[in-house]
Amino acid sequence: MKEVIVIGAGPAGMLAAGTAAERGARVVLLEKMEKPGRKLAITGKGRCNITNLKNWEDFSPHVHPVNRYFKPAFYNFTSEDTVAFFNNIGLPTVLERGTRVYPASQRAFDVIDALKSWLERLGVRIICGCQVLEFLREETKASASASHETNNEIRQQRIKAVRVRSSQGEEKLLTADHFILATGGKTYPGTGSTGDGYALASALGHTIEPLFPTLTALMPVDYDRRLERVELRNVRLDLYIEDVLRRSEEGELLFSNLGIEGPIGFRVSRQAVVALNKGQRVSLHLNLKPALTREQLMLRWERENSLAGSGSGSGSETYLVKRLRAYMPEALTGPFVKYVTVSGLHPVDAMTRWVFPIASYGDWARAVVTAGGISMKEVDMRTMRSKLIENLSFAGEVLDLDADSGGYNLQIAFATGRLAGGKTSD
Ligand SMILES: Cc1cc2nc3c(=O)[nH]c(=O)nc-3n(C[C@H](O)[C@H](O)[C@H](O)COP(=O)(O)OP(=O)(O)OC[C@H]3O[C@@H](n4cnc5c(N)ncnc54)[C@H](O)[C@@H]3O)c2cc1C
Repeated sequence: MKEVIVIGAGPAGMLAAGTAAERGARVVLLEKMEKPGRKLAITGKGRCNITNLKNWEDFSPHVHPVNRYFKPAFYNFTSEDTVAFFNNIGLPTVLERGTRVYPASQRAFDVIDALKSWLERLGVRIICGCQVLEFLREETKASASASHETNNEIRQQRIKAVRVRSSQGEEKLLTADHFILATGGKTYPGTGSTGDGYALASALGHTIEPLFPTLTALMPVDYDRRLERVELRNVRLDLYIEDVLRRSEEGELLFSNLGIEGPIGFRVSRQAVVALNKGQRVSLHLNLKPALTREQLMLRWERENSLAGSGSGSGSETYLVKRLRAYMPEALTGPFVKYVTVSGLHPVDAMTRWVFPIASYGDWARAVVTAGGISMKEVDMRTMRSKLIENLSFAGEVLDLDADSGGYNLQIAFATGRLAGGKTSD
């Protein structure tokens, strides 16, 4: 019986382990934390947006940096397959906003429990509190090609064992026929995803594409702390890089202690972080009233102005704050008036184009996803197997694949895990 070791009990590792067991392998799943799926437990604010039911044409633009590397895994295990899979293992699901899938119970913990029970039924041995420290390699010799009359030998690299450390500090070697690395990225390190996989793969000769946090908050220059905790709906955010409009997003925005985030903040964050890392100028332009044209807004403003009359105090800040309450949440009015005063803009112009130059972005501790990772050029995308090491495969966020928010990242984890687990034999 083939023996498989899967490293990392996140969504990718769990799918890989169960799938390999379904194909008849004896599987051990190693997890360094005390429980599997710690990050999965906090997904979707504890509700877990399992997947997104868009078809490939609509799904693929949300996958970065090169979506075609994910295509075979997606077609091998589509978003519909993900839903059918969870329903089959006893997790009912619901659809939200057209294409987003959540557990019917709205509890991420139920997703973890369903996966754990599935693995148990398949006889997968989960060892928690077990950190993989190192791969031990051996070189094997294989003849170049049986059909060619040559004595040339290709030296192939194989892994013979992993060195692991238990939470009690004991170290030992574990052997297997095949290994699957699914250690995730390096955001929210408290969940166990501390980027170990990059060092493990790099030590084997794999290229790690530059890592950076994505789906993260963008911190404005001289951030007005009074904005913290203000949530806005139906607003537009335009991303400018070197004064060129690069992306427009409409929806919900949140000002947090880390800056501008929330769904539309996250959607522009990947491009913004890339630009900031290149030293480019980045700014976000906030339109508080995208449903109205500037002219419509000006008409409304002037009409209200004449109704209010131009009595004493009409030019004062207090008067302005009072008037602004009809246009924005009260908590926003103080910082907005400051912006109007400093910029010298008419309030209507400031409302449609409140400019936030961006200084920096939220780091690993609070970013949702890691961009960059094990180069897909060195991974056979039809099998998820390493092109450098004979008996090694990869799955999940450790790979150079990431996506926008909306269930896409978990679909990447599930689908690459499914593919990797199903292709441990030649
Ligand atoms: C706050 C938050 C909310 C999110 N919400 C969503 C959402 O709703 N929908 C969505 O699609 N995506 C969401 N994501 C992204 C999604 O959680 C990840 O993309 C996904 O978990 C990646 O799965 P993975 O299995 O590759 O890695 P992980 O989930 O990171 O799992 C990797 C596992 O490997 C273990 N490990 C690491 N190193 C070692 C080692 N050396 N030895 C043994 N074990 C090791 C870790 O402890 C961890 O358990 C969210 C992320 C965050 C942070």
